[in-house]
Amino acid sequence: MPFGHDTVYSLATVVELVNTSPSTGGDDDLTGLADLQAFVQARQVSGISTLTTRDLGQVRLVREAFHRVFTAPDQPTAVRLLNVLLAETRITPRLTEHDGHPLHMHYFALDATLAEHLAADCGVALAHLLVEGEWERLRTCAAPDCERVFVDESRNRSRVYCDSRTCGNRMHVAAYRARRRA
Ligand SMILES: [Zn+2]
Ligand SMILES: [Zn+2]
Repeated sequence: MPFGHDTVYSLATVVELVNTSPSTGGDDDLTGLADLQAFVQARQVSGISTLTTRDLGQVRLVREAFHRVFTAPDQPTAVRLLNVLLAETRITPRLTEHDGHPLHMHYFALDATLAEHLAADCGVALAHLLVEGEWERLRTCAAPDCERVFVDESRNRSRVYCDSRTCGNRMHVAAYRARRRA
């Protein structure tokens, strides 16, 4: 996909965020401040001060808003939902070249809360994806018992499972067994 480092990174972050939601078929992996802290560390979200239960509540709301964008039935709906999210978010474009990355844009305000940070940077990354006509790369796993989301980065947009090692492997084994029974 023709996107820069931070767009790709923000897309991976929003995928991980959405997949903590019980809406994707598993447990809720964002129920306490320890979960939130672990997420911030795993995704290296910068400029975040002490997290509170207020942050947790806000991030959980943003998570569900992003989930609705990923699972929108068509592109116009995804655009409408993303525009609502962007309209509710303070966005402050800023050029930066931190950590050895080439000059690129950040979108969160300098005093942004964690939820605002995620909404701004992940929201703009998704907006770029939609602008490039790549809406159909926003996918939900095809395994019957898994609703995890992912961004299909394959050249021919052929990826159907959230993770080839888990769901992909599971489904291939099931298909193999079904063929042997036939
Ligand atoms: Zn950056
Ligand atoms: Zn899956």
